[in-house]
Amino acid sequence: MRAAIIERPGQVTVQEVPDPQSAADEVVVAVALAGLCGTDLHIYAGEVNYVYPIIPGHEVVGTIMEVGEDVEDLSPGMRITFDPNVPCGQCHFCRRSRFNHCLNWQGIGVTRHGGFAERVAVPAKVVYPIGDLPFERAAFIEPLSCVVYGLQRATPALGDRVLIFGAGPIGLLLLQAVRRAGGAYVVVTDVQQGRLQLAASLGADRTVVADEDQTAALRAGAPMGYDVVIDATGVPSVVAGCMDYVTPGGKALFFGVCPEDATIPFSPFELYRRDISVYGSFALNRTFGPAIELLRGGAVDVKPLLSHRFPLERFPHALEIARTRSEPAMKILIQPTG
Ligand SMILES: [Zn+2]
Ligand SMILES: [Zn+2]
Repeated sequence: MRAAIIERPGQVTVQEVPDPQSAADEVVVAVALAGLCGTDLHIYAGEVNYVYPIIPGHEVVGTIMEVGEDVEDLSPGMRITFDPNVPCGQCHFCRRSRFNHCLNWQGIGVTRHGGFAERVAVPAKVVYPIGDLPFERAAFIEPLSCVVYGLQRATPALGDRVLIFGAGPIGLLLLQAVRRAGGAYVVVTDVQQGRLQLAASLGADRTVVADEDQTAALRAGAPMGYDVVIDATGVPSVVAGCMDYVTPGGKALFFGVCPEDATIPFSPFELYRRDISVYGSFALNRTFGPAIELLRGGAVDVKPLLSHRFPLERFPHALEIARTRSEPAMKILIQPTG
């Protein structure tokens, strides 16, 4: 089959590789679409100790081609997606249902071959059938699952005022999910005007261009502060400013992925004085179910978030666009088959 392989940091090729075989408890999937995301850029950049060579791709939808002999309830022809996080089920954290912190964690497209390929073999236990949900929508299940997990952590309540920094694909998923979760008044800020127009069309009550004058406009949206402030930028200087907008008794959710060595100035007195709660949100934890429902019912609209679609052979080009932002991009999908 054809596959995109990151041989080592900074080197990517599309080449012929052996077809994956399914172990007894696995299925082989013909990949219809696979979404490109920040994690793939981190693997390409070699920022953490990843394993190489690796076929990346963890936001994957497709059709089952073959099933291992021990697999029940799944059969060839089924349209599916899979949770790329494969927990061991036995370790300290798995036994406490914190599967995203599994000590023996395997990530499809991260520690084992993923979906930027014509086929991928995955454990049956992480497979989710999607019925007739269109692949273009289903490709957003994994990122939306991360969003659902983040909101399960920070739990916005009915009637809350919410401020979201960042209107990329994740920020716009957060916006829509927050509205469904009870957010009464949601403000979105970003440096790109085009993204803010999308935010407005997807239900933001107010959009604010992120510039040196943003403070007054953001404060005008909630003079007493916001009940929940979410960072979806991963930019340390932006994260540092989040806390200023949290109302006494409110919450801050650090959703964007900052560089590993970044630090921010921070006042423990302010946290104490204003009763602020701060939440991290790492990946997802058994949240594929709600994400599928949100997409199936149309509660979350992902069509406007899709900017590019490339055949597998153009994976290096797609990676380049995502990496250098040489042209405006939202979600980029790779289409290995069909
Ligand atoms: Zn991702
Ligand atoms: Zn475990």
